[in-house]
Parts: sequence; structure tokens; C-alpha cells
Amino acid sequence: MRQFLLTALVILFVSPLHAESVSLEELLQKTGAALMWDALGHKGQFSRDGNTVVFRAGDPWMVLNGRQLLPTGTVIEEQGRLIFSREAADTLYRVFGIQKNSSGYRLKTILLDPGHGGRDSGAIRHWKSDGVEIPLAEKDVVLEISLQLADKLKRLYPNKSILLTRGQDVYPTLEERVNMANKIDLAQREGMLYISIHANASLNSKAEGYEVWYLPKNYRRNVVDKSTFSGDSAIVPIINTLWEEEFTHESIRLADMILSNFQHQLGPGVPNRGRREESWFVVRNARMASVLLEVGFITNPNEAARLRQPEYLRKITLAIYNGIREFVDYFEKKGR
Ligand SMILES: [Zn+2]
Repeated sequence: MRQFLLTALVILFVSPLHAESVSLEELLQKTGAALMWDALGHKGQFSRDGNTVVFRAGDPWMVLNGRQLLPTGTVIEEQGRLIFSREAADTLYRVFGIQKNSSGYRLKTILLDPGHGGRDSGAIRHWKSDGVEIPLAEKDVVLEISLQLADKLKRLYPNKSILLTRGQDVYPTLEERVNMANKIDLAQREGMLYISIHANASLNSKAEGYEVWYLPKNYRRNVVDKSTFSGDSAIVPIINTLWEEEFTHESIRLADMILSNFQHQLGPGVPNRGRREESWFVVRNARMASVLLEVGFITNPNEAARLRQPEYLRKITLAIYNGIREFVDYFEKKGR
């Protein structure tokens, strides 16, 4: 009981600030403004299109273009992070002409990465049919799914760019795949998805089912490129941390949406092995929300038999497609 009271008190005192606060990342994304931060003076300056707004942590006002005092809520500096009150954020949205209720986010690119290819078959299993050996190779299964998926996504999103790391039986190296992803230009408030598609293998032939991998939270990525960032470089580590948290959060959400659609499409007969955490090379270097899907075990006789059926591959494709669709809806509406 005492513990409950304490918890209730903590929530009471902490939540008003955080429920009504806006993160620096969200502010920068929505306004498209550049931020200069003077860590010693605890002062910051937002600027865009000739307008500048100067603020100091703790002060209840900001200064517009060096002459107009704007009474606002405060900006708090807490453990190296800047937290903006709702009022302070609304002032900035007004100055920079942003509708505070529109999300302003757009998912511009979806990059599908069928694993392996060419000389690299990935997991493989041989079948005997009428005395003839027929191989079932991971590289073929995942290419088929990816091609179908790209086709469906292009029809659904004619204005987004839907890309494949390979559209045929060739082998791009892991570095080439990651470079492809990192070369894609994203403007402010634009996001992209990187979805790597694989089939599983295990020494245990009973291992069965699908799973989705995402990047672990503690992996430090260089999300903001210092050479291209227009603001003060002192702020880069702060934004990096914020964006990294955001990307991990988005990847987990995407993973969960795809998993629940797998479950819905493939039914209770196929085990859901859940969401997993790993620093896969191919997703680790990509500067975006990314997941790696394992659609089933080539090494399990029952599952391999299913993976040979075009109808089953269509169900897998539909599950990923619906998961992506849910994620795009969420991403482009968030903040509303
Ligand atoms: Zn693989």
C-alpha cells in the first residue's frame, strides 16, 4: 500500500511536466529549424528562413529576431536534454508557421532487402520428387516474397519510392546493401523503412515459426552526420541520442505490427517466435527504422513443405504488406 501511495505521488509530480512537454527532436522535425546551442550559457537559438528565436533554459520568455519579447512556457535542461513546455513549443510552431495538429511526417522510401542471392543460397533443403532432387533455397523463397511485396506496395503507394536491394538472383554484399540504404536522401520530417527478409535454419529440425529482429536499444549509431548538420555541433550528441531512441522505438512498433499480421494470416498452427533483439550487420549500419524478418524454417520438414506452396508465400507477403501499411498510417499520423 505504501508503495502504491509513493508511486501515485511520483506520477502526480512528474507527469504534468512530461505529459505536456515536447521533445527537441519533435520540434526540430516539425519546424525544420536549425538549432545553435551554447552549452556554457545554457542559451539556444532556433533559426529558419530569416527568423531567429533565442531562449535560455529556465526563462519564461523567448526573443524573436532580436527585438520582440515572446512570453512562453519554459524550456528545461535536464541531464543534458532539452525539454520544451507545450506553450514554448506552440510559440515556436507559430513563429515558423507550422500547424501544430498535423504530423508533418512522411514515409518516403521503403527498401526491401531479400537476403542472400546468387552464389549464396542461404538455408537450403533438397527434396526428392519422382527420383529427381529439387532444392528449396532461402534465396529463392525470400526473393519471391520480396518481388510480390514490392509490387503490392507500388500499387498502394504510387508516390513513395519502393526499392529492392536485388530484384533477381544476384548477390549484393552486405556493405553494398547498407550503402544503398544510406545513400537515400531524406529531407526534414521524412522517414524510411529498411526491411530485410530471410528464412531460417536450425540444427534442430523441430524448430518452426516466424520471428522478427530489430536493433537493440543500447547500440550507438551515428544517426546525425556532423558534416551535413546545419546546427551547432555541440547539440549533435543530444540529437543523436534522441533520434536513436526514436528509431529503436519505431523499429519495435513495426516489428510488432508485422508479427501480429503474421499471426493473423498464418493462423495458430504456425508458432510465433516473437520479437528479438540483435545487432545484425545489415540493419545495424542503416540510418532508419529497420527490421529483419525470418519467415520460417527451411530446415523443418513441415514448414519447408509450406514454404514450397505459392499460396503460403502469398499469405506471408500479405502479412508483411498489412504490417507495413499499419506502420505507415501510424507514422504519418503520429503527433495528431
Ligand atoms: Zn538468411
